[in-house]
Amino acid sequence: MSDHSDVRTSAMPTGLIDSHCHLELLRDTEGDLAAAWQTGLEAIVTIGFDLGSSRKAAAFARRYERVHAVVGLYPHEADKLDDALLAELERLTREPKVVAVGECGLDYFHDRCPHDVQRRAFSAQIDLARRAGLVLVVHTREAAADTMRVLAEEAAGLTVVLHCFSLPGHVDECNARGYYQSFAGNVTYKKAEDLRAAAAAVRDDLLLVETDAPYLTPVPHRGKPNQPAWVAATAAVVAEARGWTLERTASVTTANARRAFGLPAAG
Ligand SMILES: [Zn+2]
Repeated sequence: MSDHSDVRTSAMPTGLIDSHCHLELLRDTEGDLAAAWQTGLEAIVTIGFDLGSSRKAAAFARRYERVHAVVGLYPHEADKLDDALLAELERLTREPKVVAVGECGLDYFHDRCPHDVQRRAFSAQIDLARRAGLVLVVHTREAAADTMRVLAEEAAGLTVVLHCFSLPGHVDECNARGYYQSFAGNVTYKKAEDLRAAAAAVRDDLLLVETDAPYLTPVPHRGKPNQPAWVAATAAVVAEARGWTLERTASVTTANARRAFGLPAAG
């Protein structure tokens, strides 16, 4: 159950963008969206993990002016990729408010699909992003070396967003390659000193924040399903790590999200 009351009382207008969430998985999407706009979120990027959720993401973007969609296949679903599914994803990429392909990549932690199957689906979606002229949103877990290698070999020239950034050993390389690095609620966790150090080291123009709602609920909301409004709690920790104010963090990450995804300026 989502709790909007503490959002209303504790949050000031933030001007943030939640660069990655799963609106269709929220229990109270309407209520959570209302809370997000009330806390001053400027936009939300909602993302698919299979064909059905990608269609729903595109539908949310059609329905809500400040919602934009990403369509693609999660590494766990990599074995579902065939020509028909790829053609359907490609059709979705032509919708005007579909801004990226993802979340795709490699997950050797959960390891639900053989690695070669994951790599094939990842490569196919890199190709799709290139054909569609869209951004690539990457999920990577315990697969840093392969992810960085595949991106170097196949994603040159694409705009790459590393969602739920979890490659603290690769920040310099990501900065050098111009990859956007998006921090989620886990950067607020007590033991995540390495992620906070990473958040401090990301190039100013590549820094993003996200919720990955309903997952990865940030401190102090842990124990409840996450919601887009709570991106402010993550941004506050990122701000502290960088020695920035929340306002500066909001204006920088929001400008970055607009540039990365090609979102229209705030109206
Ligand atoms: Zn996600």
